[in-house]
Amino acid sequence: MDEAAILSRLGLDRVNPGAYAGIWYEGGGDTEPIYNPTTGDVLAEITTCDAATYDLVVDKATEAFEAWRATPAPVRGEYIRRLGQALRDRKEDLGALVTLETGKILAEGTGEVQEMIDICDFAVGLSRQLYGLTMASERPRHRMYEQWHPLGPIGVITAFNFPVAVWSWNAAIGAVCGDSIVWKPSPRSSLTAVAVTAICDRVMAGTGLGAVFSLAAGGTGIGSRMAGDRRLPLISATGSSAMGRSVGSKVANRLGSSLLELGGNNAMIVMDDADLDLATRAALFAAVGTAGQRCTTLRRLIVHSDVVEDMAKRMVTAYESVPIGDPMQEGILMGPLITDDAVAGMLAAVETAQAQGGKVLTGGRRRSIHGLSDRFVEPTIIEIGKDAPILHTETFAPILYLIEVRSLAEAIEVNNSVPQGLSSAIFTDSIGRAESFLSHRGSDCGLANVNIGTSGAEIGGAFGGEKDTGGGRESGSDAWKAYMRRQTTTINWGGELPLAQGIEFS
Ligand code: NAD
Repeated sequence: MDEAAILSRLGLDRVNPGAYAGIWYEGGGDTEPIYNPTTGDVLAEITTCDAATYDLVVDKATEAFEAWRATPAPVRGEYIRRLGQALRDRKEDLGALVTLETGKILAEGTGEVQEMIDICDFAVGLSRQLYGLTMASERPRHRMYEQWHPLGPIGVITAFNFPVAVWSWNAAIGAVCGDSIVWKPSPRSSLTAVAVTAICDRVMAGTGLGAVFSLAAGGTGIGSRMAGDRRLPLISATGSSAMGRSVGSKVANRLGSSLLELGGNNAMIVMDDADLDLATRAALFAAVGTAGQRCTTLRRLIVHSDVVEDMAKRMVTAYESVPIGDPMQEGILMGPLITDDAVAGMLAAVETAQAQGGKVLTGGRRRSIHGLSDRFVEPTIIEIGKDAPILHTETFAPILYLIEVRSLAEAIEVNNSVPQGLSSAIFTDSIGRAESFLSHRGSDCGLANVNIGTSGAEIGGAFGGEKDTGGGRESGSDAWKAYMRRQTTTINWGGELPLAQGIEFS
């Protein structure tokens, strides 16, 4: 595919403005290059926001909120339907841009755009289902119920690895809830954000509704401003646990709300009665997909001692046949890591694991590929004891730790022994073991799967995790409630004034 043609069809130039609020602004900050990690070349440049432009963007988003919240929710849903249609029309190009910017394979790049389309469809239906409950009042001739109101302009900070899907979870749901959206993308993947904002611009053109979807490109400085900005009642932030600690405490300090989607350290348990063929295929996709750069990437394979040798052999064979190379090419299953630092981080983690008693079963090295950048690595399996300290760390790379256990109880203990709590899975043919894993004494994660790997969640469920993963829930189910404010209302339609709890006050 022709890189320049893709950029041009998405309306991108050599240098692109990184600020939008109804119209495009130059940004006023530094002009930053966006790299293609596959080639190491600059794809295009972005002008980031300075403080003044950021303030202007949030002012415009605040103005837009006034008109947007007054628009009936099903009408807001109609705009999201149009956004979903515009994304369908641009799916191939936008998916290819995700691949160019992040290095994930084309099937995953277009899959990410499909996820945006899916959440738009979900949000359209939701726009007619923002239900509150009616409660029985203890007082005669009183009616009590709750209603949900739009929250305000909300800030959305996204990570590099899902540069557009995570925005869409927040933006599609937040928008039907009546919120305007201020987006700060990752500095490593802001070009897709400019392309998506241009699509929103076309969808909203001529409506007179202003900056419902706005953009403020920049780094930690802009993210930190958002966290401290009282005009933004909710900050939804996706990224590392370190980022979440900083953003979460800043938002809490001004008594705002935060929705944190942070690092994972996900495990899959393989019991002695598991279908090992199924388990191997699931583990391969979960551990090697997106080159190990998903929050839900499988990082710890916890295997019963009776099948550990067999499972290790199967995994090594599968790993050694993974085609690594240009993620735009058909047949390739693993592309590059995002930066040179990510490669250095992976190689350092392999060394640390070895120093802690780990044995590399396959991989562990950089992979050089003619004509491409030096950000390619071999997917790696390291056999290691369950007490190794490295197991507590999320290394954002394709390293899978193989851990032997002797019982389900030990497996669950190891699953739960890390600070993070995002995704988990068990492979077993026993309903009793599966239910134990899913019980209140089982997995402590936000996502718990049976005979499915840890990654690749659907938008219909609430997505997120516990402990150092931040506790936030996004996407489906009733996650929309985080984007609205709840109001409990009691109406007295009688002529008396009875007090609750039977209190007499006369
Ligand atoms: P990162 O923490 O480096 O950056 C994420 C975003 O936060 C970027 O936009 C960045 O500019 C911003 N940021 C960083 N520090 C900040 C600060 N102090 N104040 C305000 N903003 C700040 O993460 P990354 O490397 O882009 O992404 C990888 C991480 O994201 C991994 O830990 C991964 O598990 C996590 N992640 C989690 C989920 C989830 O849903 N739980 C999804 C995707 C990625």
